[in-house]
Amino acid sequence: MNQLSNRINSIPESATLAMAAKAREMKEKGVEVISLSLGEPDFKTPKHIQDGAIDAIKSEDFFAYPPVNGYLDLRKAISEKFKRDNNLEYSADQIVVSNGAKQSIANVFMAILNPGDEVVVLTPYWVSYSAMILLAEGQPVFVRGTIENDFKATADQIKEAITEKTKAVIFSSPCNPTGSVFTKSELTAIADVLKDRKDITIISDEIYELINFGEKHESIGTIGDLQERTVTVNGFSKGFAMTGWRVGYIGAPLWIAKAANKMQGQYTSGNCSIAQRAALTALNGPMEPTIKMAQAYENRRSLVYDLLNEIPGFEVNMPQGAFYFFPNVKHYLGKSINDTKIDTVNDLCMYLLEDAHVSLVTGEAFGDPECLRISYAASEEDLTTALSKVKESLAKLS
Ligand code: PMP
Ligand code: GLU
Repeated sequence: MNQLSNRINSIPESATLAMAAKAREMKEKGVEVISLSLGEPDFKTPKHIQDGAIDAIKSEDFFAYPPVNGYLDLRKAISEKFKRDNNLEYSADQIVVSNGAKQSIANVFMAILNPGDEVVVLTPYWVSYSAMILLAEGQPVFVRGTIENDFKATADQIKEAITEKTKAVIFSSPCNPTGSVFTKSELTAIADVLKDRKDITIISDEIYELINFGEKHESIGTIGDLQERTVTVNGFSKGFAMTGWRVGYIGAPLWIAKAANKMQGQYTSGNCSIAQRAALTALNGPMEPTIKMAQAYENRRSLVYDLLNEIPGFEVNMPQGAFYFFPNVKHYLGKSINDTKIDTVNDLCMYLLEDAHVSLVTGEAFGDPECLRISYAASEEDLTTALSKVKESLAKLS
């Protein structure tokens, strides 16, 4: 008998991970799938960071339970990073290191939401925000940006969405899935809307900070007195190609940092000791490998932009950061081939997986049912092959 909780039944499986699993399954059966579904750097973790971990193992000093909120020297280095790179002042006790930024964000929702509390989610949003809010028994309120305004929800839209029940606002910049980057003036307009609501926590997910092709990265926490109620989320997965090491962190108002610490003290304990030493090496080490990776992503962005523009019916914007394109593909809805009817973008993604052997993720998972997400964290060769196959398969639909 299925006795699952309403809580777990209320959320879907992570669409990004599900699509990656499907692609993996097909690969195991011998099908050559090109996976553009998961937001996962195709680079190796830089050598000096690997060495940091190896040294930590060899020292035999890091085998015991680490502090729940992270080693003090790592938290101090993160505090300095926030000051140096973002002009944010979070002391070491306002930092909590977690098992990836995913857990960092989940901790915050678990810490601040009561049943029925609303969270304004700038949409398109990263797939897990809504599920995490639901798990914490909150209510996501989606504020939608469209391709016309570069997928950036406006301050006015946010103002309209705010109610007495609003407890938090969350967004990512650079944004997953759209690659949009909020400018200082856009952030200032959002800050202005929030300035009199001291009871609203702003969750600013900046995990793609180091993959930004345009203007200098800006943190909303630097505007006015907003830092007092801003949680700045960051991590090592993207900028340092460390997805598997699972290290993310927050800088937060002390009451939230303490609660996040309490939360993970009961749930997971601290983040893996060796991974933390690798993360410390990353923060203290040379940035050239990161800069090189960002340069490669920028070159791929130009390549993919040109290839996507050759696909009839794809409406494409130019992302300013991260490593995703989020084309509007509504042109293909309602088309079919033999017995396969494409009613939704999910149908389209399944068709492309089966026919073109390319895995992508439906925009529905990110709050936009007319779009799909393409991760270009893949080699130029794979990107070129994959998109020419996608084009061929789409041409068969009528
Ligand atoms: N935020 C955003 C916007 C993301 O794309 C991701 C995906 N990795 C995360 C948070 C979580 O990252 P991780 O748990 O790997 O640190
Ligand atoms: N953040 C990545 C993505 O959006 C990794 C997958 C995940 O953590 O859901 O694809």
